Amino acid sequence: HRGWLEVICGSMFSGKTEELIRRLTRARIARQRVEIFKPALDTRYHAQDVVSHNQNSIRSTPVQSPSEILLLAGGATDVVGIDEAQFFDESLVEICKQLADQGTRVIVAGLDMDYLGRPFGPMPALLATAEFVTKVHAVCVCCGELAAYSYRIAASEKQILLGETDSYEARCRPCFLAGESVK
Ligand code: ADP
Ligand code: MG
Repeated sequence: HRGWLEVICGSMFSGKTEELIRRLTRARIARQRVEIFKPALDTRYHAQDVVSHNQNSIRSTPVQSPSEILLLAGGATDVVGIDEAQFFDESLVEICKQLADQGTRVIVAGLDMDYLGRPFGPMPALLATAEFVTKVHAVCVCCGELAAYSYRIAASEKQILLGETDSYEARCRPCFLAGESVK
């Protein structure tokens, strides 16, 4: 079989990890060799597992840099899953290309936008080069419409702030723009 790149993107709480776990579980049922990676800095729920907000989980290998993914996935892997891809540097784009070129199915999940609505890290280039792109949506916690934005409640201006419902909420465009004045 031939390789390709799939990207699952969306805001926080949109179901990216759930969808990634669903696809990887199905690949395992089909007896394919699956490897899952996440950035080592994302230890919010578990050092090793990729865990979704509804507590689904799958064992993963935390890595410091994208080059480790290429080394560890090797040639014997059919499917490579990568969660929280926005936290990796731009070199992830070339690593995913190499894996796909050598015949691996690569499934990447990550935030397409940061808390200010700016394209996040390597995600724009991954979206541009993927054969398949899925954008999933959360529910706006203010009004119940589809949410594409991750609104930061915590007072910090760093692009990377690991957090949960204590630091972020999913919001639609109008409620994201309205900021503190809605709730
Ligand atoms: P992501 O990886 O995109 O952050 P997850 O797959 O970890 O998302 O979690 C999705 C789950 O989060 C949903 O199935 C739901 O149970 C829960 N959830 C909590 N808040 C929201 C919200 N505002 N909108 C949608 N789902 C939410
Ligand atoms: Mg997730």
